[in-house]
Amino acid sequence: MSNNFSMEDLVSLCKRRGFIFPASEIYGGINGFWDYGPLGTELKNNLRDAWWHDTVHCPPIGLDGEPLSIVGIDSSIIQNPKVWEASGHVGGFNDPMVDCRETKSRYRADHLQVIANANGEGRMYAFIEGDEESEDRARKLLAKYEKVDALDDAYTTSLLTELPTDVFERVVGPDTKEVGTLTEPRQFSLMFDTTVGATGGDENKAYLRPETAQGIFLNFMNVVDTMRVKVPFGIAQIGKAFRNEVTPRNFIFRSREFEQMEIEWFCHEDEAQQWYEFWCEYRKNWWQKMGLSTENLQMRQHDSDELAHYAKEGYGTFDIEYKFPFTAPGFGELEGVTHRGNYDLSRHAEFSGKKINYFDQQKNERYTPHVIEPSAGLSRGTLALLCEAYTPDDRPSKVFMKFNPHVAPIKAAIFPLVNKNGMPEIATKLHEDMRKKHVVQYDAKQSIGKRYARMDEAGTPYCFVIDGETLEDNTITVRDRDTTTQERINVDQAVAYLDDKLNPV
Ligand code: ATP
Repeated sequence: MSNNFSMEDLVSLCKRRGFIFPASEIYGGINGFWDYGPLGTELKNNLRDAWWHDTVHCPPIGLDGEPLSIVGIDSSIIQNPKVWEASGHVGGFNDPMVDCRETKSRYRADHLQVIANANGEGRMYAFIEGDEESEDRARKLLAKYEKVDALDDAYTTSLLTELPTDVFERVVGPDTKEVGTLTEPRQFSLMFDTTVGATGGDENKAYLRPETAQGIFLNFMNVVDTMRVKVPFGIAQIGKAFRNEVTPRNFIFRSREFEQMEIEWFCHEDEAQQWYEFWCEYRKNWWQKMGLSTENLQMRQHDSDELAHYAKEGYGTFDIEYKFPFTAPGFGELEGVTHRGNYDLSRHAEFSGKKINYFDQQKNERYTPHVIEPSAGLSRGTLALLCEAYTPDDRPSKVFMKFNPHVAPIKAAIFPLVNKNGMPEIATKLHEDMRKKHVVQYDAKQSIGKRYARMDEAGTPYCFVIDGETLEDNTITVRDRDTTTQERINVDQAVAYLDDKLNPV
């Protein structure tokens, strides 16, 4: 990824080229929801399929040199509401939020910083952490209205949540000029609820799942009883999750409806630490394999005060983070690898009154397995691929999308140079041969330069052109997206050429 582009550039390319659109756009949109267009859907599905392939169909080699045993499931989005009591989400899955009484804006309290002059007197100005524009505004207002000693730039900043509430009346919110319009932080449930059945009422309340993980825990015994799996083994799932995020933002990074790709790896407590390390390492490498560069990825151990309600004392969470343009030079979470202990299985056993455990016949031991959970965002992963690929350039399109060919939405384009002289016939035949195996596009409209530009913006790695020479010697040109160099190959070898380039990594 080159850092010399803004999110607006990327969002506008995504809209222009049919990757991602705001949901319900003709009605003014709906905050936190997005639709994937034809190219975005292909890109996301390619990432999803690569994950499923590398997790379920062809899982990695484990600590003993044997392939891991992982099976896939697809559980319901809506489950018995007791599931979310047992999991700790009802009552625990909250974010502290702050409202502005004047503008009606809502903020995550733990995302707000306040800035004051060096002695902390006078008005304080709140801004959204990591949002340059918001911080800039706060600093300017402070400099304009408060006595700030020009020689002393030691403004004090602190988290809003750390301020005593009696100074809130001196705080100016991020989008207002008035003091005292921010409410005290209040807990806000992130779960969407709905009503099941026609009668309504609180007793029929159910929730849209906020994570795919619980569907896996609910099916642990079903899988053990039907699949002849032996601990250690994993269950994988990809699907939608819903969170009523207080402040959805940064394009599809934080949305209210998104997709997750989660593995619950069940193992003996004694081996959990080793597996935890295994998964952290493996998952980071996997993102690199998808095309994210090493310098844009980092692993970060959670501090003990950020651990989620299920990650108990002594167990860890590692975030695999990506340097998104809106976090740079910092990083934002792409995937969390968490040691969940046996919290979930034990809680479901307790709340359901059913036995949920595993009997190891060889060791003659019955126990509740511990769980290592690599939990990745498919939507966030798609955003990382888009950010990584966006490459400003001086070619006519001014930008090209440098996707790893394995995730590129379109693998190749086939162009007759002109739409006559027998060229369309050869191009059509090549298109028909190629499309049996790969996602390819035929395009005979407009100048060759415009056709290249369209494919560069779509991130298509190869363009095959049938020209005058083809009629004489059966050769065609292949243009490489990244270098724009061209080589000639025999048309009969074109399918094999593309197969070879797209060989599994
Ligand atoms: P965050 O701290 O960013 O809110 P989280 O720690 O709550 O994320 P997890 O519960 O660990 O996230 O979820 C696992 C993965 O699901 C995250 O790494 C992320 O990729 C994805 N994810 C979580 N919330 C969202 C969201 N609102 N929009 C898009 N993806 C999300």
